[in-house]
Amino acid sequence: MLQVHLESKRVTVRKVSLSRTPAGFARIRMLAAAICSTDLELQRGYYGFSGTPGHEFAGEVVAVNGSQEEQSNWMGQRVAGEINLACTHCDWCARGLGRHCPRRTVLGIVKHPGAFREFLTLPIRNLHRIPDGLPTERAVFIEPVAAACEILDQVKIKMDDRVAVLGDGKLGLLVAQVLAAHGAQVNLFGRHREKLRLVEGAGVTTEVSRKLPEREFPIVVDATGSAEGLHSAIAMCIPRGIVVMKSTVHGLVSIDTAPAIVNEITLIGSRCGRFEPAIRLLSSGRVRVDSMISDQFPLDRAPGAFRRAATKGILKVLLRP
Ligand SMILES: [Zn+2]
Ligand SMILES: [Zn+2]
Repeated sequence: MLQVHLESKRVTVRKVSLSRTPAGFARIRMLAAAICSTDLELQRGYYGFSGTPGHEFAGEVVAVNGSQEEQSNWMGQRVAGEINLACTHCDWCARGLGRHCPRRTVLGIVKHPGAFREFLTLPIRNLHRIPDGLPTERAVFIEPVAAACEILDQVKIKMDDRVAVLGDGKLGLLVAQVLAAHGAQVNLFGRHREKLRLVEGAGVTTEVSRKLPEREFPIVVDATGSAEGLHSAIAMCIPRGIVVMKSTVHGLVSIDTAPAIVNEITLIGSRCGRFEPAIRLLSSGRVRVDSMISDQFPLDRAPGAFRRAATKGILKVLLRP
């Protein structure tokens, strides 16, 4: 099978033999996968990664190494998959927090080969069926939409609460739509008129920001992916407000902590989320992603796809088998 390999900043495509499917795992034929900012960070040398990246995908189950029941439940199904492979027997796993299991591996990121290959493997328990009405290209967005939905599990956001989202990249556009679908009044601040326009139909108020407002929002989400984002988010937050940190910036972020302390602002880190609400939002069409797909490449042209994904102004680039 074809497999993308990332090592020392170079993306190559290799022909390798099919790996075995361990007990409790399913083999999944990749139908579509998306290059995300994390993949580009891995290419830049984040985590000292070498191997097959890819964690946003939709696929079809072609083999199940499990019970008769698991086989009949999953064979031939179109699926998305949770990316954290938890150990299932530590305290964190017992509490249902496998996403924080200290012994976990992570699809395409930490010690488990990713989705940029013809066939990938995941534990059966990680799988989620893709509803028939949800096309494969949209289902690829389940994982990043779940990451946006995680905010709603962490912060109580009520109908009509005012929320500012910083950053009009892929994650910012999804966060803004998810929070608007939840009923919040969302202001999205970004730098690119054409990207902001993509979410205006979803009830998001957008603003090309020259100067950001100060002390105005009770909840601010930083999805800029930049080191300055957190500083701006804290400045925009009212006293006793909440700043959600959605940007994973590689390297150190230096901020003056005084404004956060003086204004008693709560800082919340936020990463992966549950898939169920994401599948609902994408199926109902309340989160729209079609216009976020900038380009599609066959797997054997992965190096070109990575170059395209790193180009300014490009949103999601999909790989297809
Ligand atoms: Zn991602
Ligand atoms: Zn565990």
